[in-house]
Amino acid sequence: MGTSKLLVRAKAKGTLPDLNDNIGKDWGNNGDNLFRRGGLTKTGKIQGGFAGASAFDLGNSVSPVTLQQAQFPIGVECNCINHLSLSIPSLRGFFSYKSETDTVSLTWPSGANDNATAATRRTADLINGANGGTITDPPGIDSQFTFHPLGGAVLGKACDLFGRVKGYTRLYVVDGALIPGATGCSNPSLTIAAIAERCIDRIIEEDL
Ligand SMILES: Cc1cc2nc3c(=O)[nH]c(=O)nc-3n(C[C@H](O)[C@H](O)[C@H](O)COP(=O)(O)OP(=O)(O)OC[C@H]3O[C@@H](n4cnc5c(N)ncnc54)[C@H](O)[C@@H]3O)c2cc1C
Repeated sequence: MGTSKLLVRAKAKGTLPDLNDNIGKDWGNNGDNLFRRGGLTKTGKIQGGFAGASAFDLGNSVSPVTLQQAQFPIGVECNCINHLSLSIPSLRGFFSYKSETDTVSLTWPSGANDNATAATRRTADLINGANGGTITDPPGIDSQFTFHPLGGAVLGKACDLFGRVKGYTRLYVVDGALIPGATGCSNPSLTIAAIAERCIDRIIEEDL
């Protein structure tokens, strides 16, 4: 987010005027959704969190989904499990600069994550159908958040395929801003690290 904000402001204020029009675009929330399955069989034990586990529903007919159990030891039995799901949002957002307030803000289109939410609901229904439980409402499935902001200076558009910012020499992006909106139903940090290493290897070889 910081990278995108810096570059969008620099382009708008003319300190880096040769940045191209893809700066600040192709942002996404990694298809994140957070929800809770409740009404589960009482275990008779105080809930202290559970082992991390992922369910992969890559054949989901709406969109592929990875469903994770989000450890959240609350110290009381709630007969529930919190889940984080990761999918692929169908739309992308963009950053823009407002001169009146000298701020950069994100526009995330309404409905951008609807397909990820629908896919998550389908996977949750499948698991509930097999094991019991319901999606508790509230909060229901909430997609108005993300742990995983991605995009804003993406590979092949705002930057070349090695993070070199187009329009300038020796200006590089080597973080999650390079990735257009999703890392294919996975947590992004290892993908970000791998792409950063790939970029830096090439930059050291060719630019320095
Ligand atoms: C609660 C939470 C849980 C998560 N769990 C996981 C997980 O289990 N697995 C996983 O893969 N990912 C997880 N993530 C996501 C992961 O942390 C991020 O995808 C990853 O850290 C992003 O890496 P990055 O290098 O792009 O940016 P960051 O790690 O966010 O680094 C950006 C850096 O830039 C700095 N910065 C920002 N603005 C400026 C500025 N103007 N000037 C100078 N510096 C600036 C920031 O201080 C920061 O140090 C989680 C995220 C959250 C919030």
